[in-house]
Amino acid sequence: MARTEKGATQDSVRRHNLGTLLGHLHRHGPTSRARLTRILGLNRATIGYLVDDLAARGLVTETPETEQAPRGRPSKVVAVRGDLYQAMAVHVGVDAVELALVGLGGTILARRRSAFSRPGDRSVDHVVRTIARLAARVLAETGGLLVGVGVAVPGTVSPDGEMVTFAPNLRWRQVALARLLQEALGGGAVVRVGNDANLGAVAEHSRGVGIQVNDLVYLHAEVGVGAGIITGGRMLEGAGGYAGEVGHMQLNPGGLACHCGSRGCWETEVGEDALVRRVGIPPGGRSKVDLVLRRARDGDRVCLEAVEETARWLSVGLVNMLSALDPEIVILGGVFEQILDICPETLVDRVAQTSRYFHPDGVALVRPAFGRSSVLLGAAELGLRTVLEDPASVSPMAELRPLDLKQPQTRPGRPAPPRRRIETPGNPPVRELGPQSDRLAVGLKGRGTRIL
Ligand SMILES: [Zn+2]
Repeated sequence: MARTEKGATQDSVRRHNLGTLLGHLHRHGPTSRARLTRILGLNRATIGYLVDDLAARGLVTETPETEQAPRGRPSKVVAVRGDLYQAMAVHVGVDAVELALVGLGGTILARRRSAFSRPGDRSVDHVVRTIARLAARVLAETGGLLVGVGVAVPGTVSPDGEMVTFAPNLRWRQVALARLLQEALGGGAVVRVGNDANLGAVAEHSRGVGIQVNDLVYLHAEVGVGAGIITGGRMLEGAGGYAGEVGHMQLNPGGLACHCGSRGCWETEVGEDALVRRVGIPPGGRSKVDLVLRRARDGDRVCLEAVEETARWLSVGLVNMLSALDPEIVILGGVFEQILDICPETLVDRVAQTSRYFHPDGVALVRPAFGRSSVLLGAAELGLRTVLEDPASVSPMAELRPLDLKQPQTRPGRPAPPRRRIETPGNPPVRELGPQSDRLAVGLKGRGTRIL
């Protein structure tokens, strides 16, 4: 909700209202001035002033089409401008790095992927150089202004978004990834790092299938498995910011050794390696996973049984999570989305059987609205945070100058160039994700499998 001036300075109220207005347009899409007036509780003149300010900064445009307001007066429709201010979104996976430039409203302007082909490709040094190379390529293709870099990693991240503390499937510990990327990119944009499943949850909650759902779990599965948990409208962070490492719940104590050092973790039964291993193929690479899934869809008995067995183990962990967290929806991302597609009955029946006492009305298992792009778009939200939280931090159009993101530097010992930083607000450990009063079970129709 927008603020009026009581109890705050005029400038801080204006900046807050600019952020509220831009955030609404970013999340909900084009909206008429009349509707903005009703939603934000401000008068028409104030909305007009705020829209003009955002337009002068190149953040929004007004379409010539008009919408009829209640008393018959035409009202212009306001939309974010998705091509000028851009975030660089990076998803570091276990088998590839993916990078995109994303504008306001989640517009993907350019996208590149680089698969790992050798074991050494997962090293910090190689990943940083790969990101710098892909960045140089996409930036050469597009115009616009880079306002931030968001990076998703399959591991735990320090609460300040600077350090990857432990990424077992990459074999990374205590990696200062934000600083390394700032040096490699050589530009002025701020780099923030986040956990991949948490960022998938942010994307789906802010603009996807979980919009206005205050209790949800986004499960992301590749080689590893993680959860982004939103409870009461807030991301569950834990004492150290490491909540959601559900892939390392020990569900089969006599099972396989896990990269985390433990044994029988959930991801050793439901991750991509487990799926591939069940058909007798040594794990490694997305192509093997896709092959097993394709053959299962075609009715190959061995591959189908491998998917069914993975679905059975998936249901074991899911039931435990439902008991612990009581979410309204569970979003199945990564390879889990395809397991849901191939054998929905196995998953739904087993979860329904074992959770019916506490969830008599059922829980919706849903596909992510953004498919395999949820995590990447969540990383973009990190990169866009500065401009969304404080649109007044960017200059009006006449004063704009592109940030000088340099070509990647690989020569050791060369001093880093002076960096221009964009002023950023703090990185709060807990993020408010939506008002309780707006709670609606929207976005589920036709997308989910409702249990019971
Ligand atoms: Zn583990």
